[in-house]
Amino acid sequence: MQTHTTIASLRSTLDRARAGGARVGLVPTMGFLHAGHVSLLERAVADNDVAAATLFVNPLQFGAGEDLAAYPRDLPRDAALVAAAGVDHLFTPTVEEMYPTPVLTSVSVAGITERFEGASRPTHFAGVATVVAKLFAIAGPCRAYFGEKDFQQVAVVRRMAADLSLPVEVVACPTVREPDGLALSSRNVYLTAEERAAAPVLHRALSAGAAAVTAGERSASVVRDLMRDLIAAEPLAQLDYVDVVDAATLAPVEPLVGALRLLAAARFGKARLLDNLGVLAE
Ligand code: AMP
Repeated sequence: MQTHTTIASLRSTLDRARAGGARVGLVPTMGFLHAGHVSLLERAVADNDVAAATLFVNPLQFGAGEDLAAYPRDLPRDAALVAAAGVDHLFTPTVEEMYPTPVLTSVSVAGITERFEGASRPTHFAGVATVVAKLFAIAGPCRAYFGEKDFQQVAVVRRMAADLSLPVEVVACPTVREPDGLALSSRNVYLTAEERAAAPVLHRALSAGAAAVTAGERSASVVRDLMRDLIAAEPLAQLDYVDVVDAATLAPVEPLVGALRLLAAARFGKARLLDNLGVLAE
């Protein structure tokens, strides 16, 4: 595996690979990798001739008072995991390399960014869309792999790539979970033992919501209340939002019909955790 710290190095390497006929797979991450990230890396390796991972804790997507400084980092361990997955190129730029001058350009996606994560973190998705647009510009034509764990993020990135005609195919990959249902997240390290024991309530609530829909419940508010009550019964969980929406547009649906997504976010002590689940109302 080759490690690149400059934009010019990654760009010229991937340009050369494509010139030789290679298909390129790209996996953007903020590092502190876990099995969820590794599933994306392995998919990128399996589907493409050349795979590249990027590891960059992007300051633009953290709000004031969020965990930018505390965000967990372990570059040697991450590099070993990326290499073990069979990835050919690792891009680890500094903040100065990515943003040598104050950033005056911001990519903002309207509509789908306004609710859920966007409501709780008003500058977050502009930060994500800006860095991902930049990584796509650096990597060039490729397939890019994102986790469904951050469901709204995939929708934003997909829409941004389509609206800007970027030559990137966005591929969404399933959420990797702990045996008790907790979605893997770099932020799970913030959990105390008690909070870790409480955190699977998010997945339990979403599963109960999905089961209700499958059993025939067609009222969004009934499903929402059911999930909210389950999370409220866990004293260590501070609910941020829970909802059931159209899976393609993230818009409200009432009565429930078609491909739906159940979404939840809650704080457990220092950790703010997200989860989601798909269900079909036929
Ligand atoms: P992050 O480093 O948290 O920005 O995540 C990098 C990528 O890994 C994003 O596309 C995430 O959605 C994805 N990801 C994070 N957690 C998981 C998980 N548990 N399963 C699958 N993909 C994940």
